[in-house]
Amino acid sequence: MRVFVTRVIPEAGLGLLRERCEVEVWPGDGPPAREEIMRRAPELDGILAMLTDRMDAEFMDAAPRLRVISNYAVGFDNVDVPAATERGIAVGNTPGVLTETTADLAFALLMAVARLIVPGVEYAKSGQWRTWDPMALLGRDVHHATLGIVGLGRIGTEVAKRGHGFDMKVIYCSRSRRSETERELGLEYRDSLEALLREADFVSLHTPLTPETRHLINGRTLKLMKPTAALINTTRGPVVDTEALYEALTAGTIWAAGLDVTDPEPLAADHKLLRLDNCVVVPHIGSASVDSRDAMARLAAENLLAGLEGRPLKASPNLEVVSRETR
Ligand code: NAP
Repeated sequence: MRVFVTRVIPEAGLGLLRERCEVEVWPGDGPPAREEIMRRAPELDGILAMLTDRMDAEFMDAAPRLRVISNYAVGFDNVDVPAATERGIAVGNTPGVLTETTADLAFALLMAVARLIVPGVEYAKSGQWRTWDPMALLGRDVHHATLGIVGLGRIGTEVAKRGHGFDMKVIYCSRSRRSETERELGLEYRDSLEALLREADFVSLHTPLTPETRHLINGRTLKLMKPTAALINTTRGPVVDTEALYEALTAGTIWAAGLDVTDPEPLAADHKLLRLDNCVVVPHIGSASVDSRDAMARLAAENLLAGLEGRPLKASPNLEVVSRETR
């Protein structure tokens, strides 16, 4: 069985694959160019792909032996899942193993934005720190503020717990109401995004990127937020309209933003968002801890092997495919 791993990932996963398959790992610092993936397609039985690799019908049609696309991410907006299902190709993803790590990062961004950590570091380094200043770097309190979670799934729920731990009032809106989680964690449900945005001091986004959630946060919805509120995005960049966010941050429509994901991604070093004092941007590091990346590598490898051997994948958005004989 021949598999292509499109980036170097932890040995915890590569080792599992090498025991059972002929493995090629892309050695580059960045993702392989589309042509590199397409060139290998005809020979591949499986591919372990990153969120930066477009896994579309054109690629699948060029890969007649392909049985499985194992995505090294919980999100799978880079994979055309219906096209894979149509062709009997199993798709794997890595839910659960990165949930808390991503929630930690969302909360780190929230704290950084609220307490002006990045401007504070710059202030200390630049020589402006000459004495204790009663009026410098005044941030906003996190404790007893209202945290609004948009999308109460695995990561949203973990962020809600962290908010609770900081004595925040936690409200949420989501596609489905989660009454049990609501009771367990003392959350309050809001029946619309609009209602949540009007009330929250910190809004944290946790929906997947889908046609319904693309630009969920846009010029209209940003205007519903409080001028003192901050937006935290650790889901996918296109859930927020970048131009509208820039406008809102510069016009004072909202107070600040903390972004792990952006649109486009990466942002050019001279991008205007990176010049704003009230916007903290980190380079898509939500799941970037040693333990989470090891666990993602193991799960992605296990999914890949299961797909190659016609067994059910441990995690998959098209589980129905394995019950069918693949080509
Ligand atoms: P999840 O458990 O599936 O949670 C997603 C939640 O969003 C679900 O509760 C879902 O509702 C809700 N939802 C879906 N569509 C919605 C809509 N249109 N409006 C409102 N709510 C909606 O997924 P997860 O594991 O928490 O991951 C969430 C996302 O985080 C992933 O898709 C990925 O894009 C992103 N992520 C980013 C990083 C990073 O490095 N920054 C790391 C991991 C994940 P239902 O309950 O009805 O399904």
